[in-house]
Amino acid sequence: MANRDPQSVLSPRHKLFSEWASCFTRSVRYAVDGDCASAREEFGKIDGKSLAFWFHTVAQYGGSDRLAVLDRAATARSAVIKSRARMPNSRQTRDILERDQWSCRYCESPLLLRSQLDKFRSLIGEDLFPLGRTNLSKHGAYFLHVATIDHIVPWSAGGTNESDNLAATCHACNFGKDDFTFEELSLDTPSAANHRKNASWVKTVEDLDGL
Ligand SMILES: [Zn+2]
Repeated sequence: MANRDPQSVLSPRHKLFSEWASCFTRSVRYAVDGDCASAREEFGKIDGKSLAFWFHTVAQYGGSDRLAVLDRAATARSAVIKSRARMPNSRQTRDILERDQWSCRYCESPLLLRSQLDKFRSLIGEDLFPLGRTNLSKHGAYFLHVATIDHIVPWSAGGTNESDNLAATCHACNFGKDDFTFEELSLDTPSAANHRKNASWVKTVEDLDGL
């Protein structure tokens, strides 16, 4: 599983995904080091509009598109009212992110909590990284780099809040997977043990926290 193509697990990834993820990590590193000009230059290489278009047209439908290609019907589940209590608290969220190396378990995209993203935006200038209230007014980098927590077995399918059932994920993978199980999507479950180590990114996140 270590050699699986990241993000092909859920949906075809944007062809410049890896390049832009590297721009993002370099930009955060420069910002943490106080080199704002280089941070802005790196972030400016990310085509936010193109990335947002990919999210809106491809990534957010990853699970349901895959189900359609497999010619399967979605499993009927009783309606579940989602509530905040069913999401992990901030301590557990951090624990999951640290365990998963601050990167998406499903596509390996580097992740920051929204509060950390906002700190980064204040360092590079919010003009470069607009985050409006609606998804359509958000820079595309948001969908790949804001941290979310996914229930691997969805809550609606009986999944729990035990750490083994929680994965750090980017917004794109979380919404793309929707309420499907990996079994329903005929995919192997990406395990925490096989998750790629990313020491330099982890260090950058820790340094950002320390500012
Ligand atoms: Zn992802």
